[in-house]
Amino acid sequence: MYPFHWVPAAGQRHASLDAHPDGALAYPSGTGVRTLCGSQLTADNSKLAWLWETCAECNAEARRISAELPTSRGLRG
Ligand SMILES: [Zn+2]
Repeated sequence: MYPFHWVPAAGQRHASLDAHPDGALAYPSGTGVRTLCGSQLTADNSKLAWLWETCAECNAEARRISAELPTSRGLRG
C-alpha cells in the first residue's frame, strides 16, 4: 500500500497523506484533506469527480514518495 490516497477535490484529482476515516476506501464527500500540493481542500467522492484531471503537483509528489518506498511491503516503522 502506498502511504497516500487519491482524492478528487476542487476540480482536480489530488493526493493526500491523510488517513481515510474509519477504514473507508475513499474520503467521503465533504472530508477536509491536506493535499500533497499543499492545499487544504474538501473531498468530492462523486463518480464524476474521479474523472477530473490529475493535479500535476500531487502526481509529481506521489511519484517521489513511491520511489522512496522499500520494494517489499510492511517493513516501515
Ligand atoms: Zn494537488
